[in-house]
Amino acid sequence: MTTIDIVGGGIMGLVLGYDLLKRGVGVRIWERATELGGLMGRIRFPELSDVEVDRYYHAILNSDRTLIGLIDELGLTDELHAVTTKMGFYHNGDMFPMSSPLDFMRFPPLSMIDRARLATTILAARRVKNWRELEQIPVIDWLTRLGGKGTVEHIWKPLLRAKFDTSFDNVPATYIWSRLVRMTDTRDKSTAKEQMCFLTGGYIMLIQALAREITRLGGEIHLGTSIQKVCVEDNRVTGLQLADGRVASDGVILTLQTPIACRLLPSEAAATAERWSALEEYLGIVCMLLVMRRSLIPYYTLNITDASIPFTGVIETTNLIDRQYTDDYHLVYLPKYVTPGSVFAQMDDETLRQKFMGYLRKMFPDLQDNDIAAIRIGRERYVEPLHPLGQTDAIPPIAADTAGLYLVNNSQIYPQLTNGEAVITYAYRAAEEVVQSQQRINKPVATLVAA
Ligand SMILES: Cc1cc2nc3c(=O)[nH]c(=O)nc-3n(C[C@H](O)[C@H](O)[C@H](O)COP(=O)(O)OP(=O)(O)OC[C@H]3O[C@@H](n4cnc5c(N)ncnc54)[C@H](O)[C@@H]3O)c2cc1C
Repeated sequence: MTTIDIVGGGIMGLVLGYDLLKRGVGVRIWERATELGGLMGRIRFPELSDVEVDRYYHAILNSDRTLIGLIDELGLTDELHAVTTKMGFYHNGDMFPMSSPLDFMRFPPLSMIDRARLATTILAARRVKNWRELEQIPVIDWLTRLGGKGTVEHIWKPLLRAKFDTSFDNVPATYIWSRLVRMTDTRDKSTAKEQMCFLTGGYIMLIQALAREITRLGGEIHLGTSIQKVCVEDNRVTGLQLADGRVASDGVILTLQTPIACRLLPSEAAATAERWSALEEYLGIVCMLLVMRRSLIPYYTLNITDASIPFTGVIETTNLIDRQYTDDYHLVYLPKYVTPGSVFAQMDDETLRQKFMGYLRKMFPDLQDNDIAAIRIGRERYVEPLHPLGQTDAIPPIAADTAGLYLVNNSQIYPQLTNGEAVITYAYRAAEEVVQSQQRINKPVATLVAA
């Protein structure tokens, strides 16, 4: 039986491993950390009786059919709960609900004309069938043409700032188009309200269930093992270099973010390294997590229109997740996507904490020290892959030029937004492609000539 080595034990690596095993392929998963989950992992608070919560916020939408199908297949359906959540906007010192089309229409900074044009923008976006037309158009130009300057300033720019730090001149219109398509999909058709779901205990339930199934199906999971290099001979993968030796391999899938994956390539795979590095820019994130004794906002997400506030939203996940799974604490995340050169990316934890807290107190003057049980700052260098204008053809393919080598990560997911649904759908597609490619590689030469 062919054995494929998967580097990375995040959601992508685990779903790939599970799907390959179901297709009869042997799998070994290699994870550098001592726990699985990657960005979907957990964080423990020893000072709060070891309460464990999601390191970052991860939503499941009721329209995530593939993801919910997987949850079902893994026997977790009873652990999945749907909740009607609310979204808000923070504008000029006040919070405004923004959960229904009516809320948008009532948003004070929008004039009557802006409101009509906002509706037109949403309808026009939903009518776009060929997204390729949009990938050459800067998102701000497209939105201004459809909805005018008022909607761009008060709605779209705050949303873009939240995701792209300070610069979005090079962001194609596909980004907001995908977002609008996904947003309209999450609405409960009868109430037009947003529906989200959570798994009891968080995404880690899914990670653990996948790990159990992988082991049951005969796959191996190696934790605490950092892969040093992919071994290549005669333009074909031969194995993996570990810190303390080498393992032979029939095929290797790197699920790491592209710049990290490139570092594992040997000089023999220079052509692959060049191909992959054509599109390898990512935004990072700094994200402050407050474990609170009281609720801060009535929304799941509060978007912020005031560009002077450094974090780009307030996300209270316990307005979705049942607090019986967080020891009754409320979880509030303050994210800021950052370019590597951003002052926030370089700021030390204490300065960042003071800065964020200063602004949070301005937004919520009644916030008391005693409301906060614990604070943690998370930092990730590679989170959001950037797809600049007209660069779709630069996206690296799954199968590399080196036989038996594959790249499968969220930078290849486009124009869909990277979310759990998209990652799982992509992992299934990649598993299929890897199986077909391995069959071609392993075919005896005589069969290939006859074909
Ligand atoms: C603040 C935040 C909010 C988010 N919100 C959402 C959301 O609401 N919905 C959603 O679906 N997604 C969300 N995401 C994105 C989501 O977390 C990612 O898309 C997803 O977790 C990526 O999974 P992955 O397996 O591709 O990568 P990762 O989770 O990064 O996994 C890669 C793994 O590879 C391991 N690794 C690296 N180098 C090596 C090596 N040399 N050897 C062995 N192992 C190695 C790493 O330790 C890691 O475990 C969010 C992310 C962040 C940070």
